[in-house]
Formats: sequence, structure tokens, C-alpha cells
Amino acid sequence: MPYVLPPAAVPSVPVHGDADARFAVRRIYCVGRNYVDHAKEMGFTGREPPFFFLKPADTLLAVGAGVTGEMHYPSLTQDLQHEVELVVAIGVGGRDIAAQDALSHVWGYGVGLDMTRRDLQGEAKKQGRPWCIGKAFEESAPIGELRPAADCRIDAETEIRLDVNGNTRQRSTIGKLIWSIPEIIEHVSRAWTLAPGDLILTGTPEGVAAVGRGDTLEASVSGVGSLRLKIV
Ligand code: MN
Repeated sequence: MPYVLPPAAVPSVPVHGDADARFAVRRIYCVGRNYVDHAKEMGFTGREPPFFFLKPADTLLAVGAGVTGEMHYPSLTQDLQHEVELVVAIGVGGRDIAAQDALSHVWGYGVGLDMTRRDLQGEAKKQGRPWCIGKAFEESAPIGELRPAADCRIDAETEIRLDVNGNTRQRSTIGKLIWSIPEIIEHVSRAWTLAPGDLILTGTPEGVAAVGRGDTLEASVSGVGSLRLKIV
């Protein structure tokens, strides 16, 4: 059946080891405050159940390996902040997935940035309004190439890190996640039906801070991948 207007392009991310194929993205889920020291720097205890927000799939800014992506400094903010996060890519959908079965639903992993207009998010929090304007805007989800799960080595010691202009701003380990990857999948799939193509950004460690035009961000998760981004 024809559409009255041409359909929008399918957002997608490059895939490690296969230059011809891409991972088509359906939804982008994000976990809030999932490292204790980040929860504390945001004024919370880190002892709450997991909570989630979404970014539309077309807020994705895919950045290939060996490339410096370019993110345009967004409108309306004086406080654009970085949040480096491990990305989980769902390959097998489902609902009410038990944590013990969750990893069989994972296609692969990657590195992402949950870019945040912190001033607008802070105002929304204060007013009890949705976070959309602070979190879900154009190019707010830069994501590097995805690596199939079988090729990733992720354990408690896996390092997650973000450097800005060569200075380390965020550095932690996956072992410090409050809610583990299987637990996150369990929780998300209770509230929504997961499907192939869904991405989950699993939360950021402490050290979030502002960036400006001209800054270069280097995000990495050891054994998974990295992502280079310039703010323009
Ligand atoms: Mn985040």
C-alpha cells in the first residue's frame, strides 16, 4: 500500500566485523541513575528501583569505528552534558523476561552517550514535568558500532570511560552497576514488550559534566568498543 508521504529512513548503527550490514534500531530505552556515585552526584541515594525513559530512534547519531562523529550543539541549553553508557542491543524480543534468561535476548553491545540538556532536565524535574526536552532531542544518542555478544568480554572489571580533550572525566567499571544487565532486561520487559532492534542505555557512572563547541569526546567500554565525537 502506498504512503501519502515517503516513510522516514530506518535509524541504524554499524556492526563490528561486517561492513555490509547494519543494526536497525527500533527503540532506545535509557536507565536513570544506575551507578551509586552518579545517583549521589545527582542528589539521590542510589537505593531506588530502576526507572526508565526513552529517546526516539531518530535521535540516534551513529558513529562508525575510526570516524569522529559530529554532534551539533543543541538549541535552548547552556549546559549540554555527557553521560557515557554501555549499550545493550536486543536481538530476540519478549515480555516478562526473567533475569536468568535475559542474556539469550542480547544480540550485542556497544558504547553510547546519553547527551543531556542538564539545565532543561533540572527545570523539568523541579516542575514535575517529563524529561523529554532534556533528554530526547536531535543527535542526543551518539552510538558507536555494535559488537556481537559472542565477541564481547564483559565482567565486573570491564572499564567504562569518557575522556574530553584527552582528560578523563568519567571512569568506572560495569561491576558498579546498581542493576545488572539481566536485571535491567527483566525490568524493562515487564513494562514494555522488547523487540529485535531495541537498544538499552544502561546508565552512566559519576563525573558527568558540561561540554561545548570544539570539544572532542572519546567514550569506551573495554572489550566492547569506543566512540569519538566532536561537538560543533
Ligand atoms: Mn543516562
